[in-house]
Amino acid sequence: MGGNGSYSYFVSKTLGSYSKDRYKKVGMIGKTKVVAVTTHERTKTPMNSFTSKMYYVTAPKNPKRIEHIAFYNQRTHGVSKTIDLIYDKNSNFVGAHTHRWQVNDNNEYYRKSHDGRNQFEPTRTDWRYINSALRYNNKHSKNQSI
Ligand SMILES: [Zn+2]
Repeated sequence: MGGNGSYSYFVSKTLGSYSKDRYKKVGMIGKTKVVAVTTHERTKTPMNSFTSKMYYVTAPKNPKRIEHIAFYNQRTHGVSKTIDLIYDKNSNFVGAHTHRWQVNDNNEYYRKSHDGRNQFEPTRTDWRYINSALRYNNKHSKNQSI
């Protein structure tokens, strides 16, 4: 499993507008990549490179602030879950929630936006990742002001 065949299948059948330069690596948290969105197209969640089960995703215009944490299914390589980090207008972290992703009839990964039934409290493990992301944000905003 996971050979080139399934890669092309995934690229052609899912997240059709995906292009490799949409996301660029801007940092690391432990062994996990922090990636920045480089375009403002609809899909906010990067497709798995097949080397990682999760990514930290920064704001499009601020690579020093993580706004999403995306998880992938190891078997299908599709996005399975995202954690959204919520900030207020002054960039203070005010909370987090998670969403589940599904596959539609066209084999595209999606989730309904503003679906109240698809918004969950982060688990204890989720909070570990969220706190790692917040430490990353703090560290980088400090570095920026020096
Ligand atoms: Zn959300």
